[in-house]
Amino acid sequence: MNETIYWLMRLNYDKKNKRGDMMKVWEKNIRKVVPYTPGEQPEGKDIIKLNTNENPYPPSPKVLEAKANLAKLRLYPDATAKNLVSVLAEYHGLKENQIFVGVGSDDVLAMCFLTFFNSEKPIVFPDITYSFYDVWAELFNIPYVTKALNDSFELVAKDYYGENGGVIFPNPNAPTGLIADLDFIKDVLEHNQDVIVIVDEAYIDFGGESAVSLLKEYENLIVVRTFSKSRSMAGIRIGYAMGNAELIQYLNDVKYSYNSYTMNYPSLVLGVESVKDETYFKDTVSKVVATREWFEEELTRLGFTYPKSSSNFVFATHKTVPAKEIFEAARKEKIYVRYFDKPRIDNYLRITIGTDEEMKKFVAFLEKTLGYNS
Ligand SMILES: *Cc1c(COP(=O)(O)O)cnc(C)c1O
Repeated sequence: MNETIYWLMRLNYDKKNKRGDMMKVWEKNIRKVVPYTPGEQPEGKDIIKLNTNENPYPPSPKVLEAKANLAKLRLYPDATAKNLVSVLAEYHGLKENQIFVGVGSDDVLAMCFLTFFNSEKPIVFPDITYSFYDVWAELFNIPYVTKALNDSFELVAKDYYGENGGVIFPNPNAPTGLIADLDFIKDVLEHNQDVIVIVDEAYIDFGGESAVSLLKEYENLIVVRTFSKSRSMAGIRIGYAMGNAELIQYLNDVKYSYNSYTMNYPSLVLGVESVKDETYFKDTVSKVVATREWFEEELTRLGFTYPKSSSNFVFATHKTVPAKEIFEAARKEKIYVRYFDKPRIDNYLRITIGTDEEMKKFVAFLEKTLGYNS
């Protein structure tokens, strides 16, 4: 290789990787990505874990009691996930060919990026949002632009007008917890009839109106859900997309070109049991919502402000004490919340709603740290 080119490449590589070792020739053919950073999963006793938006309550007793016949692990699972697809279709009043299931909504969303975002025009999403979107865009070489939320952290509909390669946003948004109403979503759909619009409803069960009702009207809409938050099953990895049959078929074609057996057998059995237990599901969701409402009032009392949450977390900033300080002090007390060292949100904490007991302990910690008397 030409010396100059070699040294230029090495210089670039060093900059990108912050490493000084000699670049191997094969490096130039490797796909290099800056991965998504998941929240910490600390282990040990007496930890209060409010950092990854898991549900503090266990999955439905029907899930816990279900008997997956593990001898069946000998066989490949049902590649069509028929039973799970069928209960989900019934649950949402859709046809079976309108449901696509995957290994958590992260898998489903990645499949959607791969399948639907193939334009040379950039896809559009908010500047403050789920931090996996730009990672997938980079991974799949999809051009993208971000649009700034307004000062109240709301999405602005007209930012999503105009030519683009597709639109995606979570509703409620993460990490803000703010919900956009159906009029907003309709507005975005009306102005984007030639591309696919994806609404990531990871938190919709905790508040706000779902865009599922718009599927009848808009054939370019995809709505994505997960079992990880409202269904207390982050560990099993189930997510799904809903849309018109044609789009779902395209998703399946991509899936079968990549990995036919995404859903393992136990998750297919346990996922069905969860969907069947509507009473338990509603009970746990309303418990989380009640705790959130109490906790928001406590935050106000303690000098925090926050956008009104429609999710299972609150995104809060204190009037005087920096978020990073509170984050670090909490960590010392084995209380884990999420802190993002990113522009515009580096003075906010994202606090997952735990049990009443956990939230009371967190409030007591805040009172002590901020010097309040209860
Ligand atoms: C948690 C989350 C997901 C991913 O959830 P899975 O566990 O992969 O189903 C997707 N989108 C948003 C906005 C989330 O917060």
